[in-house]
Amino acid sequence: MRYEEKKTARHYLTAFAWTRMELDAEIRFANTIFDTAYLRNTITGWKRLGQTLGDAAPVHRMAARWSAVLDSPIAERQMSSWCRDIYRLLPDLSLRELQFKLLHSLYYDDVRWFKMKLATSPTCIKCGTADGTLVHRLITCPLLQPFWHEVLEVVGKCIAGSLRLTARMLLSSMSPRNLPGSCAKARFERVAVLMACRTILAGWIEPQLAPTIAAWFGRMASLAQMERLDFLAGKRRPDPVYCACWDICFATFPKSLQEELCRNGYTLDWSCKVKGKGRGGS
Ligand SMILES: [Zn+2]
Repeated sequence: MRYEEKKTARHYLTAFAWTRMELDAEIRFANTIFDTAYLRNTITGWKRLGQTLGDAAPVHRMAARWSAVLDSPIAERQMSSWCRDIYRLLPDLSLRELQFKLLHSLYYDDVRWFKMKLATSPTCIKCGTADGTLVHRLITCPLLQPFWHEVLEVVGKCIAGSLRLTARMLLSSMSPRNLPGSCAKARFERVAVLMACRTILAGWIEPQLAPTIAAWFGRMASLAQMERLDFLAGKRRPDPVYCACWDICFATFPKSLQEELCRNGYTLDWSCKVKGKGRGGS
Protein backbone atom coordinates (compact mmCIF):
# COMPACT_ATOMS: atom_id res chain seq x y z
CA MET A 1 0.00 0.00 0.00
CA ARG A 2 1.36 3.44 -0.85
CA TYR A 3 1.72 6.11 1.82
CA GLU A 4 -1.19 8.17 0.48
CA GLU A 5 -3.48 5.13 0.53
CA LYS A 6 -2.38 4.31 4.06
CA LYS A 7 -3.15 7.84 5.10
CA THR A 8 -6.63 7.66 3.55
CA ALA A 9 -7.28 4.30 5.18
CA ARG A 10 -6.23 5.65 8.57
CA HIS A 11 -8.47 8.67 8.06
CA TYR A 12 -11.52 6.47 7.42
CA LEU A 13 -10.67 4.19 10.33
CA THR A 14 -10.35 7.06 12.80
CA ALA A 15 -13.61 8.48 11.45
CA PHE A 16 -15.45 5.64 13.22
CA ALA A 17 -14.38 7.13 16.54
CA TRP A 18 -15.70 10.60 15.74
CA THR A 19 -18.37 12.24 17.80
CA ARG A 20 -21.62 13.31 16.15
CA MET A 21 -20.41 16.93 16.06
CA GLU A 22 -17.10 16.06 14.40
CA LEU A 23 -18.92 13.93 11.85
CA ASP A 24 -21.39 16.72 11.04
CA ALA A 25 -18.56 19.20 10.63
CA GLU A 26 -16.69 16.83 8.30
CA ILE A 27 -19.77 16.23 6.13
CA ARG A 28 -20.58 19.92 5.99
CA PHE A 29 -16.98 20.74 5.07
CA ALA A 30 -16.85 18.13 2.28
CA ASN A 31 -20.21 19.22 0.87
CA THR A 32 -19.41 22.92 0.85
CA ILE A 33 -15.99 22.34 -0.73
CA PHE A 34 -17.65 20.23 -3.44
CA ASP A 35 -20.35 22.84 -4.04
CA THR A 36 -17.84 25.63 -4.31
CA ALA A 37 -15.24 23.82 -6.39
CA TYR A 38 -17.63 22.34 -8.95
CA LEU A 39 -20.63 24.60 -8.95
CA ARG A 40 -19.39 28.08 -8.01
CA ASN A 41 -15.66 28.17 -8.69
CA THR A 42 -15.55 31.96 -8.59
CA ILE A 43 -14.15 34.54 -6.21
CA THR A 44 -17.67 35.09 -4.86
CA GLY A 45 -18.12 31.34 -4.46
CA TRP A 46 -14.94 30.93 -2.42
CA LYS A 47 -15.72 34.04 -0.40
CA ARG A 48 -19.10 32.57 0.45
CA LEU A 49 -17.37 29.31 1.42
CA GLY A 50 -15.16 31.27 3.80
CA GLN A 51 -18.25 32.80 5.36
CA THR A 52 -20.00 29.42 5.62
CA LEU A 53 -17.00 27.81 7.29
CA GLY A 54 -16.74 30.82 9.56
CA ASP A 55 -20.36 30.30 10.55
CA ALA A 56 -19.67 26.63 11.22
CA ALA A 57 -17.54 27.52 14.25
CA PRO A 58 -19.37 30.43 15.84
CA VAL A 59 -18.04 32.18 18.88
CA HIS A 60 -20.72 30.74 21.15
CA ARG A 61 -19.46 27.23 20.52
CA MET A 62 -15.94 28.33 21.46
CA ALA A 63 -17.27 30.03 24.56
CA ALA A 64 -19.18 26.89 25.55
CA ARG A 65 -16.13 24.69 25.04
CA TRP A 66 -13.84 26.93 27.11
CA SER A 67 -16.50 27.37 29.79
CA ALA A 68 -16.44 23.58 30.19
CA VAL A 69 -12.63 23.40 30.14
CA LEU A 70 -12.16 26.20 32.68
CA ASP A 71 -15.23 25.21 34.69
CA SER A 72 -16.41 28.80 34.79
CA PRO A 73 -18.88 30.54 32.47
CA ILE A 74 -17.44 32.62 29.61
CA ALA A 75 -19.71 35.09 27.86
CA GLU A 76 -19.85 35.17 24.08
CA ARG A 77 -18.89 38.85 24.09
CA GLN A 78 -15.81 38.11 26.18
CA MET A 79 -14.83 35.34 23.78
CA SER A 80 -15.08 37.61 20.71
CA SER A 81 -13.05 40.24 22.50
CA TRP A 82 -10.30 37.66 23.13
CA CYS A 83 -10.45 36.67 19.47
CA ARG A 84 -9.87 40.31 18.53
CA ASP A 85 -6.97 40.47 21.01
CA ILE A 86 -5.01 38.25 18.62
CA TYR A 87 -4.66 41.27 16.35
CA ARG A 88 -4.75 43.96 19.02
CA LEU A 89 -2.04 42.62 21.31
CA LEU A 90 0.29 40.47 19.30
CA PRO A 91 2.97 42.01 17.11
CA ASP A 92 4.46 38.81 15.75
CA LEU A 93 2.73 36.75 13.06
CA SER A 94 3.78 33.38 14.50
CA LEU A 95 2.53 34.38 17.95
CA ARG A 96 -0.80 35.31 16.39
CA GLU A 97 -0.96 31.87 14.85
CA LEU A 98 -0.13 30.25 18.18
CA GLN A 99 -2.84 32.26 19.95
CA PHE A 100 -5.35 31.43 17.22
CA LYS A 101 -4.60 27.72 17.54
CA LEU A 102 -4.96 27.88 21.32
CA LEU A 103 -8.29 29.72 21.21
CA HIS A 104 -9.68 27.31 18.64
CA SER A 105 -8.19 24.24 20.39
CA LEU A 106 -6.42 23.16 17.24
CA TYR A 107 -3.55 21.40 19.00
CA TYR A 108 -3.54 17.63 19.15
CA ASP A 109 -3.04 16.64 22.77
CA ASP A 110 -2.63 13.16 24.21
CA VAL A 111 -6.37 12.80 24.82
CA ARG A 112 -7.20 13.70 21.23
CA TRP A 113 -4.53 11.34 19.87
CA PHE A 114 -6.05 8.60 22.00
CA LYS A 115 -9.58 9.33 20.77
CA MET A 116 -8.28 9.14 17.22
CA LYS A 117 -6.76 5.77 18.12
CA LEU A 118 -3.27 7.04 17.35
CA ALA A 119 -2.05 6.60 20.93
CA THR A 120 -2.44 3.75 23.37
CA SER A 121 -3.28 5.93 26.37
CA PRO A 122 -4.76 9.39 27.01
CA THR A 123 -2.36 9.96 29.91
CA CYS A 124 0.20 12.77 29.82
CA ILE A 125 3.45 11.45 28.31
CA LYS A 126 5.52 13.58 30.70
CA CYS A 127 4.17 12.96 34.19
CA GLY A 128 1.82 10.04 33.57
CA THR A 129 -0.45 11.19 36.39
CA ALA A 130 -3.36 12.83 34.57
CA ASP A 131 -5.11 13.06 31.20
CA GLY A 132 -2.88 14.91 28.74
CA THR A 133 -5.34 17.62 27.76
CA LEU A 134 -4.13 20.88 26.23
CA VAL A 135 -4.49 22.72 29.55
CA HIS A 136 -2.55 20.00 31.33
CA ARG A 137 0.14 19.99 28.66
CA LEU A 138 0.64 23.74 28.82
CA ILE A 139 -0.28 24.76 32.36
CA THR A 140 -1.08 22.16 35.00
CA CYS A 141 1.45 19.35 34.37
CA PRO A 142 3.59 19.05 37.55
CA LEU A 143 6.74 18.95 35.41
CA LEU A 144 6.04 22.51 34.23
CA GLN A 145 5.55 24.13 37.61
CA PRO A 146 9.19 25.20 38.28
CA PHE A 147 9.41 26.63 34.75
CA TRP A 148 6.19 28.63 35.06
CA HIS A 149 7.18 29.87 38.49
CA GLU A 150 10.40 31.37 37.10
CA VAL A 151 8.74 32.78 33.99
CA LEU A 152 5.90 34.46 35.89
CA GLU A 153 8.34 35.94 38.37
CA VAL A 154 10.24 37.66 35.55
CA VAL A 155 7.05 38.76 33.78
CA GLY A 156 5.69 40.12 37.07
CA LYS A 157 8.84 42.21 37.50
CA CYS A 158 8.58 43.57 33.94
CA ILE A 159 4.94 44.63 34.22
CA ALA A 160 5.20 45.63 37.89
CA GLY A 161 2.40 43.31 38.90
CA SER A 162 1.90 39.74 39.98
CA LEU A 163 0.56 36.88 37.92
CA ARG A 164 -1.00 33.67 39.14
CA LEU A 165 -0.69 30.56 36.99
CA THR A 166 -4.13 29.66 35.62
CA ALA A 167 -5.52 27.97 32.52
CA ARG A 168 -7.31 31.21 31.60
CA MET A 169 -3.86 32.48 30.60
CA LEU A 170 -4.10 30.46 27.39
CA LEU A 171 -6.91 32.68 26.14
CA SER A 172 -5.75 36.23 26.61
CA SER A 173 -3.86 38.66 28.77
CA MET A 174 -4.62 38.60 32.53
CA SER A 175 -3.45 42.16 33.21
CA PRO A 176 -6.04 44.93 33.57
CA ARG A 177 -6.27 47.32 30.64
CA ASN A 178 -8.20 50.27 31.99
CA LEU A 179 -5.31 52.25 33.48
CA PRO A 180 -2.84 54.50 31.65
CA GLY A 181 -0.05 52.39 30.14
CA SER A 182 -1.73 49.14 31.19
CA CYS A 183 -2.46 48.12 27.60
CA ALA A 184 1.27 48.06 26.85
CA LYS A 185 1.82 45.86 29.90
CA ALA A 186 -0.99 43.55 28.81
CA ARG A 187 0.69 43.26 25.43
CA PHE A 188 4.06 42.43 26.97
CA GLU A 189 2.45 39.87 29.28
CA ARG A 190 0.70 38.22 26.34
CA VAL A 191 3.91 37.96 24.33
CA ALA A 192 5.86 36.54 27.29
CA VAL A 193 3.21 33.94 28.19
CA LEU A 194 2.85 32.77 24.59
CA MET A 195 6.63 32.48 24.31
CA ALA A 196 6.53 30.25 27.38
CA CYS A 197 3.84 28.10 25.72
CA ARG A 198 5.99 27.87 22.63
CA THR A 199 9.01 26.84 24.72
CA ILE A 200 6.91 24.08 26.31
CA LEU A 201 5.48 22.84 23.01
CA ALA A 202 8.94 22.79 21.37
CA GLY A 203 10.21 20.16 23.78
CA TRP A 204 7.03 18.24 24.47
CA ILE A 205 7.72 15.01 22.61
CA GLU A 206 10.85 14.31 24.67
CA PRO A 207 9.26 12.33 27.53
CA GLN A 208 11.61 13.36 30.35
CA LEU A 209 12.60 16.82 29.19
CA ALA A 210 11.21 19.78 31.16
CA PRO A 211 11.30 23.27 29.60
CA THR A 212 14.02 25.55 30.94
CA ILE A 213 14.01 29.24 31.70
CA ALA A 214 17.17 29.54 29.56
CA ALA A 215 15.23 28.35 26.51
CA TRP A 216 12.51 30.92 27.23
CA PHE A 217 15.13 33.68 27.64
CA GLY A 218 16.58 32.71 24.27
CA ARG A 219 13.20 33.05 22.56
CA MET A 220 12.45 36.32 24.33
CA ALA A 221 15.85 37.68 23.26
CA SER A 222 15.17 37.00 19.58
CA LEU A 223 11.79 38.67 19.87
CA ALA A 224 13.29 41.66 21.69
CA GLN A 225 15.59 42.19 18.71
CA MET A 226 12.73 41.98 16.23
CA GLU A 227 10.54 44.29 18.29
CA ARG A 228 13.31 46.86 18.62
CA LEU A 229 13.93 46.83 14.87
CA ASP A 230 10.22 47.34 14.21
CA PHE A 231 10.21 50.38 16.48
CA LEU A 232 13.40 51.76 14.94
CA ALA A 233 12.01 51.30 11.45
CA GLY A 234 8.95 53.28 12.51
CA LYS A 235 6.62 50.36 11.85
CA ARG A 236 5.04 50.75 15.27
CA ARG A 237 3.74 53.62 17.30
CA PRO A 238 6.15 54.85 20.03
CA ASP A 239 5.25 53.24 23.34
CA PRO A 240 7.63 54.00 26.26
CA VAL A 241 5.79 51.69 28.68
CA TYR A 242 6.11 48.71 26.35
CA CYS A 243 9.81 49.47 25.75
CA ALA A 244 10.40 49.77 29.50
CA CYS A 245 8.96 46.25 29.98
CA TRP A 246 11.53 44.94 27.50
CA ASP A 247 14.30 46.86 29.29
CA ILE A 248 13.52 45.16 32.59
CA CYS A 249 13.28 41.84 30.80
CA PHE A 250 16.70 42.44 29.23
CA ALA A 251 18.12 43.15 32.69
CA THR A 252 16.95 39.70 33.87
CA PHE A 253 18.64 37.87 30.97
CA PRO A 254 21.82 35.98 31.93
CA LYS A 255 24.99 38.07 31.40
CA SER A 256 26.17 35.88 28.49
CA LEU A 257 22.89 36.41 26.64
CA GLN A 258 23.01 40.15 27.27
CA GLU A 259 26.53 40.28 25.85
CA GLU A 260 25.54 38.23 22.84
CA LEU A 261 22.61 40.56 22.15
CA CYS A 262 24.85 43.62 22.44
CA ARG A 263 27.39 42.04 20.07
CA ASN A 264 24.52 41.68 17.58
CA GLY A 265 23.86 45.39 17.80
CA TYR A 266 21.09 45.39 20.41
CA THR A 267 20.92 48.43 22.67
CA LEU A 268 18.37 49.65 25.17
CA ASP A 269 18.01 52.70 23.00
CA TRP A 270 14.72 52.14 21.20
CA SER A 271 13.79 55.18 19.18
CA CYS A 272 10.44 55.44 20.94
CA LYS A 273 12.32 56.44 24.08
CA VAL A 274 12.73 59.93 22.68
CA LYS A 275 9.22 60.67 23.89
CA GLY A 276 9.60 58.62 27.10
CA LYS A 277 10.59 59.86 30.51
CA GLY A 278 13.95 58.11 30.67
CA ARG A 279 15.37 54.70 30.90
CA GLY A 280 14.19 51.61 32.78
CA GLY A 281 16.37 48.50 33.09
CA SER A 282 20.04 48.57 33.85
ZN1 LIG B 1 1.72 15.83 32.85
